[in-house]
Parts: sequence; structure tokens; C-alpha cells
Amino acid sequence: MNVVVLLGAPGAGKGTQAPLLAARLEIPVVATGDLFRAAVREGTPLGLEARRFMDAGRLVPDEITVRLLLERLARPDAADGVILDGFPRTAIQAAALDAALTARGAGVGAAVLVDVPGEELVRRMSGRWICRANGHPYHEVSSPPRVAGVCDLDGSELYQRADDQPDTIRTRMDQQLGSLREVIDHYRAAGCLRSVDGLQAIDRVAADIDAQLTAAGIRGAAGSGRAAGA
Ligand SMILES: [Zn+2]
Repeated sequence: MNVVVLLGAPGAGKGTQAPLLAARLEIPVVATGDLFRAAVREGTPLGLEARRFMDAGRLVPDEITVRLLLERLARPDAADGVILDGFPRTAIQAAALDAALTARGAGVGAAVLVDVPGEELVRRMSGRWICRANGHPYHEVSSPPRVAGVCDLDGSELYQRADDQPDTIRTRMDQQLGSLREVIDHYRAAGCLRSVDGLQAIDRVAADIDAQLTAAGIRGAAGSGRAAGA
């Protein structure tokens, strides 16, 4: 079983790469937020436990999250492996995941970091503008309006929400990067950290992820020769 952990700060492009990688490796992406929602919807015993915490506005304890993950890993579509997106978020969670996988004779095969410098993350995250009339979204870099500060569709003024302003984003980013660094250090110490340059175009990042996974001994459908019947 290939367990691949995808790591990256918000805005690094991890969310873009996860489904692309899943398609190439023919294994599912498992995101913990989806796990919680599915377990709650299905009313499983663990789902009900998780819901008690969510209803109280508290974080679901790591122990419950790891048990939910293990249930997910036991499903038939995960037999060849999974890509974990959004978990582990802390070194404690990473250690809990290792212990649970080891008990099943498995382990994290590779932790791939989509690496983007902090200031570039702030630039990407803080370029969002929306229009006053209808909330149409724009981005300074990826989808700028034809005329700066004016909505293409209705001509109303564009503004930045407090949440999207650079200083707010920098503060939030510092907190998130702190726990990401813990997780990176955990996997570096375990010898399975792989890093790719997230400043490149999407297809170059994808190609580098493939190269890193191949180097780690993890092969997807493309590299296995299965399709060719070899
Ligand atoms: Zn508009």
C-alpha cells in the first residue's frame, strides 16, 4: 500500500496537485474534512463521536481522526494506497499516523512538500479582490479585471476583504507555517521527505512530484507497465 502525504501551505497549489496525482496513481485522495462529513452523514459510531466535538465547536481529537482514517484505508478502493491531503497537520498527528500504520504493517512511503516561499504565498493569497455589487471574484495575478479596480461584468468598484489583506494573511500564514514546519521536520527525520519547487507551472510541479515518487519507489499506473500488460 502506497501512503503518500501531500504537504504544502495554503496557496502552494497542493489542492490543485492532489486530484491530478490521484488520477495518475489511480488511488484516492483522502481529505480529513471529507472524512468527517462522510462519517457524520453515514452516522457511523465514530462519526457520531466526531460530531459531538464538531457540534460543540471543538477540534475532533487526533485519536478519532486517526481511527476514521484507518477505516477509510480499509476500504477496497484504498487497497493500492491513498494520498493524504490536510493530514497530518501537527507533529503529534504525524506520530499517531505512523504508529497506526506500523501496526498494520504499512507506513508513509513519501511525504511530498509543494514548496513555495512565504512571501510568494502572501502575494498569491492577498491578490483577491471582489466587486461591491455582486461579489464577482478577481485576482491581481491569475484573473485581473480589464480595468484596475473596476468589475468587468457590472462596472462596480472592486475591494479587498479584511481577510484578504496582506497583513491579515501574513499573520494567519505564520501560524499555519509553524505547524507545517513541525510536520516537515517529522518526515525529514523519518527519511521520507521529498520536496518539489512549487513556483513552477502546474504541469512542471506534477512532473517533479512523479519523479520524486519514482525515486521513493512509488510507482503509479504510468510507470508500472500494467496498462501495457507487461
Ligand atoms: Zn461584479
